[in-house]
Amino acid sequence: MTQTVIPTPATPTIPTSTGAAFPVRRVYCIGRNYAAHAVEMGHDPNREAPFFFQKNPDNLDASGSFPYPPHSSDVHHEVELVVALKSGGNNISLDDALNHVWGYAIGLDMTRRDLQAEAKKAGRPWEIGKAFERSAPVGPLHPVAATGHLTQGQISLAVNGTPRQTGDLNQMIWKVPEMIAYLSEYFELQAGDVILSGTPSGVGAVQRGDVMEAMIEGLGTLTVKIT
Ligand code: MN
Repeated sequence: MTQTVIPTPATPTIPTSTGAAFPVRRVYCIGRNYAAHAVEMGHDPNREAPFFFQKNPDNLDASGSFPYPPHSSDVHHEVELVVALKSGGNNISLDDALNHVWGYAIGLDMTRRDLQAEAKKAGRPWEIGKAFERSAPVGPLHPVAATGHLTQGQISLAVNGTPRQTGDLNQMIWKVPEMIAYLSEYFELQAGDVILSGTPSGVGAVQRGDVMEAMIEGLGTLTVKIT
């Protein structure tokens, strides 16, 4: 063990349905990956090159509660399929990409939309709107061995029982193998890397006390309370 000058921070982990935890190395998030969501955010839904931003590994949170973050009055939910990698590399081929997937989970890309909008307008990075504390509530990861690869099926989110977001995984503009292949051209992917694969239309604001119920066919539901 290397001697350290301060205590070594713990490696963030997320739970899995196997009982053992999944250690997280990096978190990549794709923007505008469902056409109807691109349109609702004021963008052209035609397929242009994908773009990614990152959250921090310790932003992932499986506690089932989401503390309303500071400096925002417009915090939005975005329900997303989470893809967790068991291996990686550079220049991964489309045909090989799914061989690197360990499993899938339901996740939320919580967003300080007002701060993100200011950043966009000023041409600044998005982290202040996206990568804050506990900004990515997640459910347990399920291994591919149990679920198969998720290429279609309903993805939805309700707030206090009222449907807000709905779509189908087959509506992703960039499919999971394409995201893995693309990212691996720009970054060296490794075991422990996680991809949030974009959100269908219907994003909107939440308030303290709200209960979000996210669902992805094959993965069950994830319930998160805003505190
Ligand atoms: Mn998102």
